[in-house]
Amino acid sequence: MKLFSDVIVVGGGPSGSFTALNLAKLGVNVRVFEEHGEIGVPSHCAGHLSVSGLKLLGLYPLPSEIVENTFYGAIFYSPNGKEFSIRLSSPVTCAVSRVLFDKHVDEMAEDAGAHYSLNSMVESLITEDDFVKGVIVRRGKSRERLSAKVVVDAEGVSSRILRQAGLLASSPDMLVSAVQAEAENVKDLKTDMVEVYLGKDYAPGLYAWLIPKPDGKANVGLATNTGNPKRLLQKLMRKHPTASKKLCTAKLSQISFHPIPLGGPIPQTYSNGFLAVGDAASQVKPTTGGGVIFGMMCARVAAEAAYVALHKNDFSSETLSEYQRKCDEILGFDAKFMLKTRRMLNALSDDRIDNAITFCTKIGLDKTLQNIEDIDFQGRSLLRMLWNPRFSVALLYFLFSYLSANP
Ligand SMILES: Cc1cc2nc3c(=O)[nH]c(=O)nc-3n(C[C@H](O)[C@H](O)[C@H](O)COP(=O)(O)OP(=O)(O)OC[C@H]3O[C@@H](n4cnc5c(N)ncnc54)[C@H](O)[C@@H]3O)c2cc1C
Repeated sequence: MKLFSDVIVVGGGPSGSFTALNLAKLGVNVRVFEEHGEIGVPSHCAGHLSVSGLKLLGLYPLPSEIVENTFYGAIFYSPNGKEFSIRLSSPVTCAVSRVLFDKHVDEMAEDAGAHYSLNSMVESLITEDDFVKGVIVRRGKSRERLSAKVVVDAEGVSSRILRQAGLLASSPDMLVSAVQAEAENVKDLKTDMVEVYLGKDYAPGLYAWLIPKPDGKANVGLATNTGNPKRLLQKLMRKHPTASKKLCTAKLSQISFHPIPLGGPIPQTYSNGFLAVGDAASQVKPTTGGGVIFGMMCARVAAEAAYVALHKNDFSSETLSEYQRKCDEILGFDAKFMLKTRRMLNALSDDRIDNAITFCTKIGLDKTLQNIEDIDFQGRSLLRMLWNPRFSVALLYFLFSYLSANP
């Protein structure tokens, strides 16, 4: 089999395109295969990204047409409608059009020299002598065998190719089903704050959200570990004491469904000639389900690891394991912290969430959290706050609530 490309990337989402961009910048011959005919389409994501994360990736500021809104913080609602707000002094997050964002990263990668093939589905890996040596690509009715020195799997949460490489996918018990839609005619929106609706009644296993856009529009969605997400969304819109007032006359369009892996990074993200990035490797924040920033951070590391392997002409899992070591260094602690936090939040009853929100408001925790330094690396950010009396009291309250519910 003739060498087709040094590196083949499976999937033209943000993780795949950012891997390709970083490889192309290093002068590597890289080809991205995307099964759909247009990058970014169909979109299944709310596009809520941290400003600090985009800065770390070197993507901030984004071209203005990509950014739909910017936010100073979030309002958290308990199941019975109690409210707790955290407002910072400058914009901390933004909502991007995921279609335009994905196209933007693709264009940067192509400008740097990466090649893209659309309508090209990677059907399977080619493996020889225990090494991944390429892929079989289907275009319409034709199939091609194409070789590469490294295959980077950025296929997203389906993890089909990942399993073919013999790696374990994210644990199914931490997979949530999400639904999202564009809502028009939403009432009483504070356009510079995102809204988070907590509680098992509406979104067991994660939460529901309202991400305001200009002109009374918003992205509305939720993720759940049980039941039908669409029915839960209808219930939120009709019955939640706060959300129902805002959404009772709203019209939904572009409804989409997609899973989110909340179990933290998979145990192994590499094998001989193979690396996995982004949702494929479950590089997603277990507290929020946000995966774009973490996936792209790991994509940059994957590009460096593949580059080193090409330089050494050594594609063994031993050489490629450097990828996982660096990813663990960057997000290992925070991902473990967030997974523990997610499991604890999942164990709280709706009554306890109501009480916790009331307690946080009463002790003025919002004043402490106004100084939060980073919302992606939540473990390290919150550890730095341990010295703060309000924060430590809230933490004790939370731990006590959890332990008394789970003796
Ligand atoms: C409802 C919802 C809302 C979300 N909101 C947010 C948010 O606000 N902020 C945030 O950070 N994250 C959010 N996420 C998570 C975020 O969407 C993912 O973490 C992110 O898209 C992962 O990027 P990726 O490139 O790894 O995978 P994807 O974006 O899933 O891209 C994978 C790409 O690979 C292609 N592909 C798959 N298989 C093949 C194949 N065999 N051959 C060729 N191509 C293939 C797919 O077509 C796709 O283009 C949300 C998720 C959901 C479901």
